[in-house]
Amino acid sequence: MDNLLSGIHQFHAQVFQREKDFYSQLATGQSPSTLFIGCSDSRVDPTIITQSGLGELFVLRNAGNIVPCYGASNGGEPATIEYAVTALGVKDIVICGHSGCGALQAMLHPEKMEKLPLVKSWLNHAEATRRIMEENYSQHKGAALLEIAIREHVLVQIENLQTHPAVAVKLQRGELTLHAWVYLMESGDILAYSTEDGGFASLTGLARQEATKRKVANVRQSKKQ
Ligand SMILES: [Zn+2]
Repeated sequence: MDNLLSGIHQFHAQVFQREKDFYSQLATGQSPSTLFIGCSDSRVDPTIITQSGLGELFVLRNAGNIVPCYGASNGGEPATIEYAVTALGVKDIVICGHSGCGALQAMLHPEKMEKLPLVKSWLNHAEATRRIMEENYSQHKGAALLEIAIREHVLVQIENLQTHPAVAVKLQRGELTLHAWVYLMESGDILAYSTEDGGFASLTGLARQEATKRKVANVRQSKKQ
C-alpha cells in the first residue's frame, strides 16, 4: 500500500500539475472510441499495451475476460456494454485474452476450485469454451491446451457479445467493429483474429499465424500500423 500512496502524491504533485489543462478538459466529459474488454490480470494493462491515453478506452475487466450471454448475468458486464455502445457510441469493441491466463487454466480444471466457489460459479459463463476444448482438442495437454483455449475463448466471447441487443443493432447498421485479440506476455505482441481467413495473426508482424478450426462472424482484423 505504501507504493500506492507515494504514487498518489507523485501523480498529484508532478503529472497532474504538469498537464492540468488536459485533466480539466477530461473532467467535462468522455467520448472514448473503444470498449476494451480484458482480463483482471495485473500484468495486462489495456492502456499500456495499446499506449492509449486517458479518455480513449472504456474498459471492462474481469477474471478471464468473459462476456456472459445476454440475460445470463445481472452483473456489471451487460450494463457496461450497453452504456459503452448506446450512450457513449464506441465504434470498436476489443475482446483481449492473454497468454498464461489463470482464469482459463482454472476453467480447464474445475476440480481445483473447490475452495473458490464464486470463481467456479463465474467460470460457468465460460462453459462453451470448456466444452469446445473437451470435445475438439482432447489430444492436447498442458500449455498447448491452454494456448488454444485462450484463442477459442476470445472467439466465444465475440459470439456472446453479439447476443447483446445494443451490440446487434449497431453491427446491423455497420456502426460497430469487433476485434478478437490475444496479448502475448512473453513477447509483448498481440495476435488478432480475422474472419476472412479464420486465423490469428500478429499485429506487429513478429509471430506466426495461428489457424483455428472455425469461422466467427463480424470480426475485422485490426489494421497494422
Ligand atoms: Zn487472465
